[in-house]
Amino acid sequence: MLSPTHVPCGPLRRILSVIVLAAGVAGCGAASRGSSQTAATTAGTTRPQVIKHHRRVRHRVVPALIAPANPPARSVQVPVLTFHRVHSLPAVGILGLIVDPATFNAELTALQQHGYHTVTQARLFDALFRGRALPSKPVMISVDDGYVDDIETILPDLRHHRMVGTFNVITGRIHEAGFLTAGQIRELDRAGMDVCDHSAHHVELTQLTAAELRDEVVGSKRALERILGHPVYCFAYPFGAYDAAVIKAVRAAGYSMAYTTDGGSIESSASPLTIPRLHVGRDETRAGLVGLVGNA
Ligand SMILES: [Zn+2]
Repeated sequence: MLSPTHVPCGPLRRILSVIVLAAGVAGCGAASRGSSQTAATTAGTTRPQVIKHHRRVRHRVVPALIAPANPPARSVQVPVLTFHRVHSLPAVGILGLIVDPATFNAELTALQQHGYHTVTQARLFDALFRGRALPSKPVMISVDDGYVDDIETILPDLRHHRMVGTFNVITGRIHEAGFLTAGQIRELDRAGMDVCDHSAHHVELTQLTAAELRDEVVGSKRALERILGHPVYCFAYPFGAYDAAVIKAVRAAGYSMAYTTDGGSIESSASPLTIPRLHVGRDETRAGLVGLVGNA
C-alpha cells in the first residue's frame, strides 16, 4: 500500500560474483567500519569479503565492486526496466505504478519468449569495466521502494522464470507496515537478487544540505550493509532527481553504479552514476513491453 506521505519515484515526478556462504548475523557491524572485516579492494579489482560474526546466520559474500578511476571507454546496451508495485488494484495510491500480478507474470513470460536474459548488477559492472561478455538480449529488472510485494509476488515470479532482479530499498521504511523487513531484504539477497540502496527517506536529494545529503546516501548505505553483511555498491535516485552535487556525494559514499529515471538503455563506463531506466506502468502491455525493450 502506498503510504499517504510517500510519492514513488519515476516519471510521475520527472518523468563474485563469488557467492560463498559465510557465518554471519543480522545487524552486526557496518561493513564500512567493521573491525573484523577483511575486505581488500583496489580500483577495478575485487576480493571476496568476509565478515565475522558471533551468531551463525548465512550471508552471501559479495565483493565491493569499485569502478576504476579512469576506465576504458566502453558502452553496452542493457535496458533497465523500473517497476514499483506488483499488486491487485487498491482503492488509493498512485495506480499507474501498480502493475497487476497477472500482467507482471505475463510480461516476464513475454521477455523470456522473446529471448531476453536478465542480468545482475555484477554482470553489468563486469561488462562495463572489465569488458566481459553479456548474454544475448540482456535486460535488467529493477523494482523501487521496497514494498512487501517484492517478497510476496515479485520474487516468486522471478524464480519461476529463472530470472534475477534488483530491489532498490528505502532503509528508513524498513519498520513500516507494507514495506520489506530486514529479514525479507536478506531473503531477497540470499535468493541471488541484487539489493541496492534507494536512500534513507526517499526525499529529493537535490534539495538537501550537504550534511543531509551525506546522511541519505552514506547513512543508508551503512544501514543496508549491516542488514546484508556485505558491501552495497548500487544506488537508485529517489524520484530520479540528481545533480552534480548529488552525483559527487554518491560517488564519495562508495557507490559504483547509480540509476536515474532518465529514459534510455545505453550504459557507459564514463557515466556509471547516471544509468538510464525505462519505466513500466500499469497500462503497459506484453507487446508494448517487448517493444519498449527492443526499441530502447
Ligand atoms: Zn522510489
